[in-house]
Parts: sequence; C-alpha cells; structure tokens
Amino acid sequence: MRVGMCGLRAGVAACALALASCQTVQTTQPGTVGVERKQSMLLSSAQVDKSAALAYQQVMKKAASKNALNRNAAQVARVRAISQRLVPATAAFRPEAPRWAWEVNVITSGDVNAWCMPGGKMAVYTGLIEKLKVTDDELAAVMGHEIAHALREHGRERASQAYAQAIGIQVIGAAVGLGGSQMQIAQIITDVTINLPNSREHEVEADRIGVELAARAGYDPRAAVTLWQKMGQAGGAAPPQFLSTHPSPQNRQNDLAAYAARVMPLYESARKR
Ligand SMILES: [Zn+2]
Repeated sequence: MRVGMCGLRAGVAACALALASCQTVQTTQPGTVGVERKQSMLLSSAQVDKSAALAYQQVMKKAASKNALNRNAAQVARVRAISQRLVPATAAFRPEAPRWAWEVNVITSGDVNAWCMPGGKMAVYTGLIEKLKVTDDELAAVMGHEIAHALREHGRERASQAYAQAIGIQVIGAAVGLGGSQMQIAQIITDVTINLPNSREHEVEADRIGVELAARAGYDPRAAVTLWQKMGQAGGAAPPQFLSTHPSPQNRQNDLAAYAARVMPLYESARKR
C-alpha cells in the first residue's frame, strides 16, 4: 500500500512508526536552475551521513585490498582539483555544504561510473576517465551531477523509502524501533548509491543542479551535453548501469542544453574572476 502522508511505500505497521518521525523537507535552495521539489524523509541527515561515512570507508578499504585505490597520482590530483573548485559552488544551493567532510577518491575499474554518497563522499572510476577520454569540463559535469545528488539528499530519500519497506516487513514479526542498526543503513546507502539506478526525477534534478555547479566553478556547462553523448556511445547496446533507467538520451540532451544556456552568465562571470 501507499502511505499517503509520507509518500513512502510501507506496510501498515511501519506506517504508524514512520509517521511519528517522517518529515517533509526542502534540502536545497532553488538556485538559478530552480529545483524546488519537497521531499519526505524518514531517516535523519545525521543518521544517514554517519552510515554513509561507514559505507564509504568499507568500499575504499575493499578497493585498497584489491590494489584499486588511487593508483595514478596524476589522475587523483586532477579529480581532486576539479572537486576543489566545485565544492565552494555548492553554497548556492546549501550555504553549509562547503564545510561538509568532502572526500574524493579514484577507483581502478573498467566501469564507466562515478558516484557521491550522502555527506559528500565521492568516487570516480578510471573507466569513466579513460574510456570516455573526458575533458576537465566533462569531468566537472559528471562530478557536479553526482555532487547534486548529495546536495539534494537523494540517497537519504531513497534510503528512507527502502528502510520503511524493511521495517514494514520486520515489524510484523518483532517490534523494531526506528533507530535501526547503523550497519543495516550503511548497506542500504551502498545499494542506493552504487548498485541501484536513480529515478528519472532524481536524475533530472541532478542534471540541472550539476550544470549550475559546473558553471559557477568556471567549467563550461555545455560539456554536460557532449559528456552524455559520449556515454551513450560508450554504452552501445547495453548502456552503463547508471544510465539504464535515466531519461531518454534525446530528452536528457535537450534538457541539459537548455539549462546550460540558462547558466552561461554564471560561467562567463566565473571565468572573469
Ligand atoms: Zn545520477
């Protein structure tokens, strides 16, 4: 069933629990691109960010054990230099975000992928950098998009939905409080960030906020369009997993081009600084 007030799909038993602590929030300011959707959250930011930090540590530890963590110093420096320009731009959407505990690492993998966990824990895969031969502007487009997911707390929103389902199931057998185990939430965060595709709605929001972040950081926002063209070509018959339920390529390119045009003045003035 659908729990109307909260917008979370959960069982009847979970509903009573969920409503007690479910809140509707506005995670970001609209910016020039005007993203204004309100979101329903069951888990708190503090709870999710703590679990995300734990999940991130686990993923990085695993990568290090396979000798797949930050192997190419020049690549790591390049990715971190771009994030250092993007992070201050996040203030346009969330004034406190530049002070988050941002982290960026490069994972050696053939996958064309990048992600940002709640709270600003990012990874860029070498497959994306090398297979797409990305320019700095294109890399900024990808990273801006991923940072936008974190600013919008899409991970927290999705984890809230997954968690409501999980407690809906458990609550029938044994009463489970809303505190949850941190490990359990960390696993959900890992799944929603790395393993499961985002909804179209989340993708559109991340695309629009992403081009604004890039523009404010002095990267050409039009690079988002060429980036997604390259992604489409790289995918061939089987698009990269994180593209699979994304908006159709043509719609996406049209939307990105329109929003890139809207933020061009921000790019022009950032370049003059
Ligand atoms: Zn995305």
